[in-house]
Amino acid sequence: MLDLTYDPPAPKVIAGATGDWELVIGMEIHAQVASRAKLFSGASTRFGAEPNANVSLIDAAMPGMLPVVNEFCIEQAVRTGLGLKARINLVSAFDRKNYFYPDLPQGYQISQLYHPLVGEGEVLVDMGPGVARKVRIERIHVEQDAGKSIHDMDPNMSFVDLNRTGVALMEIVSRPDIRGPEEAAAYVTKLRQILRYLGTCDGNMQNGNLRADVNVSVCRPGDYERYQESQDFSHLGTRCEIKNMNSMRFIQAAIEYEARRQIAILEDGGAVLQETRLFDPDRGETRSMRSKEEAHDYRYFPCPDLLPLEIEQGWVDDIAASLPELPDAKKARFMGDFGLTDYDASVLTADVANAAYFEAVAAEAGDGKMAANWVINELFGRLKKEGHDITDSPVSAGQLAGIIKLIRAGDISGKIAKDLFEIIYTEGGDPAEIVEARGMKQVTDTGAIEKAVDEIIAANPAQVEKAKANPKLAGWFVGQVMKATGGKANPKAVNEIVTARLGL
Ligand code: ADP
Ligand code: MG
Repeated sequence: MLDLTYDPPAPKVIAGATGDWELVIGMEIHAQVASRAKLFSGASTRFGAEPNANVSLIDAAMPGMLPVVNEFCIEQAVRTGLGLKARINLVSAFDRKNYFYPDLPQGYQISQLYHPLVGEGEVLVDMGPGVARKVRIERIHVEQDAGKSIHDMDPNMSFVDLNRTGVALMEIVSRPDIRGPEEAAAYVTKLRQILRYLGTCDGNMQNGNLRADVNVSVCRPGDYERYQESQDFSHLGTRCEIKNMNSMRFIQAAIEYEARRQIAILEDGGAVLQETRLFDPDRGETRSMRSKEEAHDYRYFPCPDLLPLEIEQGWVDDIAASLPELPDAKKARFMGDFGLTDYDASVLTADVANAAYFEAVAAEAGDGKMAANWVINELFGRLKKEGHDITDSPVSAGQLAGIIKLIRAGDISGKIAKDLFEIIYTEGGDPAEIVEARGMKQVTDTGAIEKAVDEIIAANPAQVEKAKANPKLAGWFVGQVMKATGGKANPKAVNEIVTARLGL
């Protein structure tokens, strides 16, 4: 069944002037809960609305307003925790994180510092066929998003848009178990995949619905193992946090740059300052934003407006029972049931909609391997070319299965099938009917093939002599027959008849 083994860490090593350095990375991912209403108010979360159209009196922090927890959001966070094999805390609590910012009208963010809803879990990060690394999750807490300050619309004024204010976020905090830029991107990819399978976050990074704060430090070989044994952070280097990354490419570039910056400081005899930095994609650099604040800077205290959040084990069990099949399990099943390679199974399970489409094709066509080939090589290629995805594919799973069934029945060759695919992609229609109506059926009638072979042999005496002297040249006749029959002759039958007629 499901093999959950994972490989030992393989840190990225950077050779410095004073010896080797290793990277250590921990991430805090902010995932917006896929909910139509906000965490503590009924205001809409719709993206792209007019500025300040989705702001209730609670979001605007009018005096005397009281937050009410949105049960649906809590359920999504529990579902996420269960999907990451994490401990669910039946009692959690909300705290106020106090700070001033124009886009935060309350003057504090309601978050969970002391008692998060979700405790330790894990993510298996895929690093290529058969290689998986484990990243431990420390906690997931539920919190409100802040609004947005807009500084680039007017030369003299700044604007504030509170639409995002109060939207529910899950902050997913990893242990510092990520050991290089590629692993960091693979971690975000896997987490995003799991969230999308669970349906708890749409994972849209462009809209800012999934953003990563990346903590980077460097250490000497052996130090990380010492940390792992003791869980004592003093074995690790001082970290810097790069805020609000929403692109896999930038995450990798920022880590790479940041590690080299820290190594240069350390090799120069300096010390890395713990601080928050921003990545500038145009320059490919990180720069300081503010020195790192500590929890006490925020004067955290339990939010007096909200009772501790108590949930029941039975409710958690119900959510657990309703979890969908997750990527690792689906991939293992695709490999086991359909004999797919690790690579093909990974491609097909990367997105839950792709996986469902593939399964529908495989079930109806009765051949998983052929279904995988057609979905990956023909359909995905074609969709990508036109910027479509599976949800707006012009070819339905039923139509693609129809094409495969015609190949399996020997009615059409693989080559004709590609033409048929093109017709269905552009014009639609039923595969079997099109093959019938347009005379695309493969010629398996040996009489017809023999006739074609004889005509070509008769017309090309010089080629016949050459082929008799060198049997490899018989392929030329096969090609001619295929051409003469418009690619509809069964290639195997043509081959046999040509060989026999030439007396090879
Ligand atoms: P804070 O509360 O100050 O944000 P946390 O202990 O919550 O600090 O850690 C934040 C993130 O930083 C976590 O993802 C953690 O794994 C990561 N982290 C902690 N120490 C290091 C380190 N030395 N190098 C890299 N990442 C680290
Ligand atoms: Mg933190």
